[in-house]
Amino acid sequence: MKLVRTRQELTEIVTQWHKNGETIGLVPTMGSLHEGHLTLVRALDGKATRRIVTIFVNPIQFNNPDDFQLYPRGLEADEALLAETGLVDVLYAPDETQIYPPGFCTRITVSGLDKVLCGGDRPGHFDGVATIVTKLFMQTRADIAAFGEKDFQQLCIIRKMVTDLDLPVTILPVPTVREADNLARSSRNRRLTPAQRQQAAHLPQALISCLEALKAGQAVTPTLELCVRTLKEAGFTVHYLDLRSEKTLTPAEKADAGTRLFVAASLGDIRLIDNMPVA
Ligand code: AMP
Repeated sequence: MKLVRTRQELTEIVTQWHKNGETIGLVPTMGSLHEGHLTLVRALDGKATRRIVTIFVNPIQFNNPDDFQLYPRGLEADEALLAETGLVDVLYAPDETQIYPPGFCTRITVSGLDKVLCGGDRPGHFDGVATIVTKLFMQTRADIAAFGEKDFQQLCIIRKMVTDLDLPVTILPVPTVREADNLARSSRNRRLTPAQRQQAAHLPQALISCLEALKAGQAVTPTLELCVRTLKEAGFTVHYLDLRSEKTLTPAEKADAGTRLFVAASLGDIRLIDNMPVA
């Protein structure tokens, strides 16, 4: 596995790969890697002849400067973890000048989908995500890219952007990887204190109970309200808990196949998200 720090070096490598008829698989990340990220890498095995993992903590998707500063970072450990898989050809870890040179002023907006759920309390976040993902598609010239369902809204937005802009890349969705107590793996979990880590398990548990009630035919609104109360009692600040269509992200009145529960809730200043399908 080669560590690449500049866009120029990356361009030389991917140009040669394409000349040789190779296909390129991409896993874009913000580092602080865990089993969720490694599962994305493994999902590309057999789907591309070359694999690139990118690590870039993207400043323009953080609407809160403290959140950007506090985001966990650790390139050496990440590099070791990726090398161990034996599946990664290039780790591309550019600094900001390689992505946003002076004067950079373009943003990509996927209108509508970017306003609901996390778009509501993180204005501009998904413009930042759509912009960096497009930059990384272009710089890596990826043929296929893996994204986690853990960030389901992000996955929807990227799929829509790829369709709308005719981007020549296939999107591979990967189911959420969880801890033994069902907490979705996340780089942000590293910031939880041991007590908060125990509390955090209430988040997936509340979603599971809520799904069971919905599947048993309970009405949507009171079931969601009860779940919000449970989470508040467990110490969370709840940003949203919604039942929505997986395709359009519009609110669903009934818990049918093709609908999904979405939650964002904070413990202290650590914001956690999760989602689970009804079917
Ligand atoms: P991040 O580094 O958090 O920006 O995530 C990079 C990619 O890994 C995104 O496509 C995420 O959806 C995916 N990812 C993060 N956590 C998980 C997880 N627990 N399960 C599956 N995919 C994940």
